[in-house]
Amino acid sequence: MPHHPDTEILHRGEGAREGAAPLTTPIYATSTFVFASAAELEAYQQGKSKAYIYSRYANPSVQAVEEKLAALEGADAALVTSSGMAATATALFGLLKAGDEVICSAAIYGGTLQVIGGFLTRFGVSARFATLDELARPDRLIGPSTRVVWFESPINPTLRCVDIRPLAEACRARQVLSVIDNTFASPVNQQPLSLGVDLVMHSVTKYINGHSDVTAGALAGRSELIERLHPARRFFGGVLEPASAYAVARGIKTLGVRMARHNASAMAVATWLAGDPRVTRVFYPGLPSHPDHDIARRQMKGFGGMVSFEASGGYSHACRFFDRLQIIRRAASLGGTESLCSLPVLTSQYGLSDEELARAGVTRGMVRLSIGLEHPDDLVADIDQALR
Ligand SMILES: *Cc1c(COP(=O)(O)O)cnc(C)c1O
Repeated sequence: MPHHPDTEILHRGEGAREGAAPLTTPIYATSTFVFASAAELEAYQQGKSKAYIYSRYANPSVQAVEEKLAALEGADAALVTSSGMAATATALFGLLKAGDEVICSAAIYGGTLQVIGGFLTRFGVSARFATLDELARPDRLIGPSTRVVWFESPINPTLRCVDIRPLAEACRARQVLSVIDNTFASPVNQQPLSLGVDLVMHSVTKYINGHSDVTAGALAGRSELIERLHPARRFFGGVLEPASAYAVARGIKTLGVRMARHNASAMAVATWLAGDPRVTRVFYPGLPSHPDHDIARRQMKGFGGMVSFEASGGYSHACRFFDRLQIIRRAASLGGTESLCSLPVLTSQYGLSDEELARAGVTRGMVRLSIGLEHPDDLVADIDQALR
């Protein structure tokens, strides 16, 4: 059929290439997928075809990431989303209904508090926020209407750890779903499913992508559970763009070597800080002085790249330290190749009262470091000059 050039440029060159088998999964930059016939579409609708129909439902570039993430967490399946918060919302709205109760660690990512306290409770879900001591005694915590227990470990910015296995076992014994935000550990350092947790959530924005250039999230678990959550992602629409999925798939390929370096450099920095008289306290689960060192040793393969500390002199000294940094960049977020510094009272704990800060274990002089991939000697030298 003769084509007008306007039509020709739309159709010529589109579609699959025979004989061109790429090593990497390409960016399937398409919102929709072509069907050859009505019979093929009918087979799809009857669930008898593995074809794709629409990128909000599934996209090959996104699925490549899901397969990698499932492998990393030792999960049957994973679901990738457009941000960590989209993963959190997808999970909570997908699992809970009016009348259910969610128990959430009080020490949790601020956005998670907002979704649970600010939104879920508007739809008849009741929420209880538990201290670390309460989470350590789950028998007393879990009630008859509890359906989900949500927690994270290590926790920002104190890097306190929850003893995962007993909490997960107590949940399972009562048919309550346990969900962990595993962002700070990364799947390389901690595999919660092997400790009995039902569902793992990640801000892929952080270590998993690892290059501070994509916002993404993920959920990983048994296929039955991931299947249950598919509609929430599909109909709330928190899907990841194929181009971002490609970047994440590339980032994941180096996660193992990046985490080894993050772990080693953070341990070096934490050890150096612990030996410096200008530093009053260091928070790193790899140090024997950390209150949860034994728990971390049991459940983590590495202690991660996050280090917090308190310099003598309180808030004004922390600000001065922050302003004097030359290599470590002043930015929120974490888990990328460049080292970052943030002040919790100006970021994650901004606006909290003294009492709320005390409950979170955060002081006004606290500094948080995300140790990147620079040479650790340069990082220590930068910290040293900034403390002067
Ligand atoms: C960043 C972060 C989130 C939120 O993820 P986004 O990708 O920013 O939506 C959730 N939990 C933790 C622990 C985080 O650090």
